[in-house]
This record gives sequence, structure tokens and C-alpha cells, in this order.
Amino acid sequence: MKLTSAQVALLGETISLTPRAGWFPVYNPADAGVLAYVQEHTADDTRTAIAAADKAFPAWSGKTAKDRSIILKKWNDLVLKHKEEMALLVTLEQGRPIKETHGEVTYGASFIEWFAEEAKRAYGRTIPATLPGKHLQTIKQAIGVCAAITPWNFPISMITRKVSPALAAGCTVVIKPSEETPLSALVLLQLAKQAGLPEGVINVVNSTKAAEIGGVLTSDPRVKKLSFTGSTPVGKLLYAQCAPTMKKLSMELGGNAPFLVFDDAEIDAAVEGALASKYRNSGQTCVCANRLIVQSGIYDSFAARLTERVRELKLEEGWKEDATLGPLINRKAIDKVQHLVDDAVKKGAHVELGGKAHDLFYEGTVLTNVSREMELFDTEIFGPVAPLFRFETEEEGIAMANDTPFGLAAYAYTRDIGRAMRVAAKLQYGMVGMNDGLISTEVTPFGGVKESGLGREGAVEGLEEYLSIKYISYGGLGAI
Ligand code: ADP
Repeated sequence: MKLTSAQVALLGETISLTPRAGWFPVYNPADAGVLAYVQEHTADDTRTAIAAADKAFPAWSGKTAKDRSIILKKWNDLVLKHKEEMALLVTLEQGRPIKETHGEVTYGASFIEWFAEEAKRAYGRTIPATLPGKHLQTIKQAIGVCAAITPWNFPISMITRKVSPALAAGCTVVIKPSEETPLSALVLLQLAKQAGLPEGVINVVNSTKAAEIGGVLTSDPRVKKLSFTGSTPVGKLLYAQCAPTMKKLSMELGGNAPFLVFDDAEIDAAVEGALASKYRNSGQTCVCANRLIVQSGIYDSFAARLTERVRELKLEEGWKEDATLGPLINRKAIDKVQHLVDDAVKKGAHVELGGKAHDLFYEGTVLTNVSREMELFDTEIFGPVAPLFRFETEEEGIAMANDTPFGLAAYAYTRDIGRAMRVAAKLQYGMVGMNDGLISTEVTPFGGVKESGLGREGAVEGLEEYLSIKYISYGGLGAI
């Protein structure tokens, strides 16, 4: 399927429908067709974007929070006004079923709305003085030019979750979207311009040579902060690259989410939670349940019920109304998922359902009899494959859940209030869904511990990431 005329109009001159020298193709993962061509930006273009952001910073940060908020609200309204075209655009360039991409647009917009409101609440403090004649105060100030490097799996919300707090705080930004999904970013840019964001406040660089662009963004001293969402190896590389210029960092990296089901869980709720957490976006989210860790008393019935429900999922092109599982993002993703399933089967896993690719689509899959030795215990699957590990005691379940260097999201199902509180406290994760398979909202702090990263996005904490605290001591004031 091709772009609609409404989408082409929205994208304007940021795309070409025919090949052009120095432009790269954007593919529809469901049928491998070319959707459009976008300009391949260079290292020099990136420096130009940084210069533009740097030039725009004094005026933008000098506006009142309310004035910035008014523009952000207009941006939010425009995104929601174009919800239909944008939802279909995400489906076309990322593959996700249309049923889910409406949610991606409203989720994305929710960050713009939230931070438009929070812009006005970047409060400092007055601290009781330690000596007479002094006044001690903190103020919060915008950090400066911020770089945002974003992934393809949430091509709208991963941008707005970084850019909205940055803009609300008074920062200016340079965004490097995933080369798989530049079109969603370009629509956001066009709508931001329509909303009245001044020249240079928001800049987008697109490239298939991510390392080259990343090299500039992480080394340029004018960039004061990098916010990255993506894989752990790339995150670690960028972390190191930012050290010489000591940039402030937010890193939202990989996960290996455990989904614990205790014998006393309400089984239907646990199955529905697993379905939502595991198969949403065909398993391609960093908070997707990666390891279903099920207590032995409920293991067989949970496996049977989950298999029944996964059988109902419809593997189809995302633009078809009844699709619930779309294609994976590309061939490499399919090969990785197949490799993990093959490895598990070779080591003794039973395929209860699925286990095969159909070109760029992967079947909803349930594996039982899986064990710690299989690669998928330690690897983020990023596909619609649920491996069901077995455990006996609460301690063993928690230990299995924590047996990973990652610490982004974890889930647990139990009806025992004491166990719920114990387990929530003991899980070494930044976020816990207790009897809840869908936890992401704009009003709560999203982020991980251990090798899943640092910093928080969304919520009041999300704004802090783009502010620095200045302490001012006013002396010699006399008696006050
Ligand atoms: P994924 O496997 O989810 O695509 P990546 O970490 O490879 O995760 O990609 C996330 C984002 O990081 C994308 O925008 C990608 O282009 C970018 N990226 C990948 N490698 C580098 C790099 N060496 N430097 C800067 N950005 C990079």
C-alpha cells in the first residue's frame, strides 16, 4: 500500500515520491514497497542543525513558560486533528496494525499536552538561610541544545516523549529518528512548524549512516544533552562518546521483562495481561514481556489458555481492520526471532503454537518446556514469541526474574496482597506492573535500572531531565 494523498500533502517537500540523488528510500515492511524518499543528511548538515538550534536557544528559552506552552498546545491539537493520517502512516512505515496505531498517535500527543502543562511548573526553592543577611535560592534553567536519537518501534511517541519536555523547559532540539521510520518524524516537524515553533527550535536530521550523525551529536560541545532510546550496545557506545564533553544523558535501553504468574493469580486476568504485554506491536517494544515465568501449579492451565487466545490473533497487513499482528520491522528482525526459536527447540522447547515466519510476518508463538540455557532467556526477543519458564517457590521466581543485567519493566500476577507488595519491592526494575500488563502513561516516570539505562521520561521527572539547577546565595542583605 502507498501513501495517501492526505499524507503526501502533510509531508510536503520533505519527501519525494521518485528517486533522487542523495535521498534514501523508506519501505513499507508489510509489502517491501517504497513509500517515499527522504533526504540523506550528512555530518555537515548535522552541524548546521546544531548551529540553528544553538542560535534559536536564547529567544526560545527567554520566552515565558506560558508562551511556550501555548505553542505546544497548538502542536498537540494539530497532531490530534491529523490522527487518522498519522495512524495510517505509522502502520505503513512501521507495520503495526491500525487498531494500535491510533493509540500511538494519542499516546504521542499526550506527552505534548502533559509537558505543555508542566512547562509552567518548573519551580525552584527558597532555602532557609544559614546566616543572617543571606537569601538562598535555587532556580531551574533550560540546559541548552538537546539531541534526541529515537527508534522505529514508537515513531511518534518516542520523539514527543523527549522533545516536548525539552521544548517546555526552554531547550531547542536536534532529532535523529530511526532510518526505518523518518516519515512520522517529518510529519511531526511539519505540524510543529504550523503550530508556530520558531525557526531552529526543532530540527530533524535523517540518515542511513547513524554512526556518522551520532558522532557529531555526541561530540559537538554545543549539544548539552543527549536523550537516546534504542539498543543497549548503541546506548553504551553513545554514553562513552558523550564523556569528553560531559553531556547530561537519558538512556532508555533494552529490557528483558519478566512476567511472573503465581499459582494464586487470577488466570484470565494474567492471560489477558500477557497477551497485551507480549503481543502488542508484534512483541517489538522494550517493555514487552520477554520471559513468562509461571509457577508450576498453574503452568499447564496458563499455557493452554494463553495458546487458545494467541490462536485468535490475526496475522495480516496492518491496514486491514481485523489485523492484530503485523509484520516485523525487517528481514533481520525475522531472522533473529527464528534463530531464537530454533535454538530453544534444539535445546528441548515444545512449540505449542506458531514457530514459523511467513515472509516478513512471524506467527504468534507459544513455547513451553523452556529453560535457562536457551538464548531467549538472556536476549530481548522483539517478536511475538512467548517462552514459558517454570518455577516452584516465590524466592525462586523472583531470583529468575532478576537474573539478568537488564532492569526496565517487570510484571507479576498474584491475588495475595502481601506477596504483591513483597514481589514489587524485590523486583530489580524501574517499573512494575502488578496485576497490570499495560503500564505506560505520560503521567508516570518511564525508565530503567541496571543496564536498561538512566533517567526518566514522562511525568514531573521527565521535565527535570532538561533543566539544570542553579543555586544562588544572595549575601549582604542586612536584616531581612
Ligand atoms: P534498534 O535495534 O531498535 O533499531 P538501535 O540502537 O540500532 O536499535 O537504533 C536506535 C536508534 O539509534 C536509531 O535511530 C538508529 O539509527 C540509531 N543508531 C544506531 N547506531 C547508532 C550509532 N552508532 N550512533 C548513533 N545512533 C545510532
